Amino acid sequence: MSARLVVNAWLIAVDEAMSEFRPGWIHVEGDRIVALGGGPVPEVPGAEILDAEGDIVMPGMVNPHCHMPMSLFRGLAEDVDDRLFRYMLPLERKFVSPEMVRIGARLAAFEMIAGGVTTVADMYYHETEIGRVVDEAGMRGVVGQTLADFDPPDHRSFEEGFALAEELAGTFAGHPRVTASIAPHAPYSTGPAVMEMAALWAADHGGLPIQIHLAETEAEIAWARKEHGMSTVELAMGTGILRPKTICAHFLLVDDADIRILAGSGAAVAHNARSNGKGGRGMARIEDMRAAGIPVGIATDGAMSGNTLDLFSQFGVVSIFAKLRGGSRKPMPARDVIRMATVEGARVLGMDAAIGSLEPGKQADLIRIDLSAPRLHPIYDPYAMLAFSTMPTDVRDVMVAGEWILRDREVLTLERHKVMSDALQMADRFRLEISAIDGESRR
Ligand SMILES: [Zn+2]
Repeated sequence: MSARLVVNAWLIAVDEAMSEFRPGWIHVEGDRIVALGGGPVPEVPGAEILDAEGDIVMPGMVNPHCHMPMSLFRGLAEDVDDRLFRYMLPLERKFVSPEMVRIGARLAAFEMIAGGVTTVADMYYHETEIGRVVDEAGMRGVVGQTLADFDPPDHRSFEEGFALAEELAGTFAGHPRVTASIAPHAPYSTGPAVMEMAALWAADHGGLPIQIHLAETEAEIAWARKEHGMSTVELAMGTGILRPKTICAHFLLVDDADIRILAGSGAAVAHNARSNGKGGRGMARIEDMRAAGIPVGIATDGAMSGNTLDLFSQFGVVSIFAKLRGGSRKPMPARDVIRMATVEGARVLGMDAAIGSLEPGKQADLIRIDLSAPRLHPIYDPYAMLAFSTMPTDVRDVMVAGEWILRDREVLTLERHKVMSDALQMADRFRLEISAIDGESRR
């Protein structure tokens, strides 16, 4: 078993006591943390030693809602209001293939690793391929096969969708870093019967995580009222889909009763502040949710919606939205932002016993933040610095399950040149199709 020691670090453990050690050390054996602390560094014969030179070392970050291959759609038709129907759905129908999702997922994995995200929850199509990319990239992931009724690119019926989920679960059964999941797209695009089947499927597979977009749009709220005479959250609750290890993305257009229902169910929320804001949809009630005991993680959504896949780009928006909602400086303090990005995000995925904080016995998922940039100083409060001044490019080293996957800002697990050239070639094919769509509409 390989032993590693990180020494001379400003250790931020994000444990219950919010322990800090400066200077601190952390001892890793195999994929686990054995010990950490301040004071004298233990003698570990044969250990690889990394001198952190006073930099911050903290838990790897958790992104609880992403559509990795959509990195290929980043910035496409940015300000066009009907871009979903005009460009996205036609492009997805024409181009989404196992090859396309691999190329997009690699671009996304590269960005997340370089920005300090060590665990991602993803939902998209051909998800088994995405799981393979997460594995080869050395990341940790919950990968969810999407189910939807809008003629999605990889299944023509729900039966075929469940067959893909079955393949996914079989491929990653017992995998140490990749967990299969099922992802009914949203209540309106699956319906209560399929949501019920998805809940049973997850239970039959040892309680695998479920991912769903919930209470995201006005159209969804109106649909639930009109078709079912209740809120979309009440509807979801009735299907049995809301339970621990269910990740509800957005949970934006909700009232007090909806928040009470979700809190009682044990389900959790992936908060996509940038995506919600850019869509002009609103600012989620995350303070109320957290006060009710709902775990809330900070997520990026796909890069088509939020543009970036690191969490530093989210922190300002998350905090500012909460402060604007509350009309004061107090809501969503920097410490809470960092907790949500790490241990609370892990709780959203039902993985907080294994990851999310630096504690003996937990998986060795950690990142080092280079403090050499003048714009990070002075540092009166490391959490304020992490929440508001740090950029993804300040991440210098990343370890997942005891293995370095980023060293000195170089991703070790993916070939930078190939990731880029594949992605740009795919984008050229999209460009041609966009010209064709625009030409068609001018005729
Ligand atoms: Zn989404």
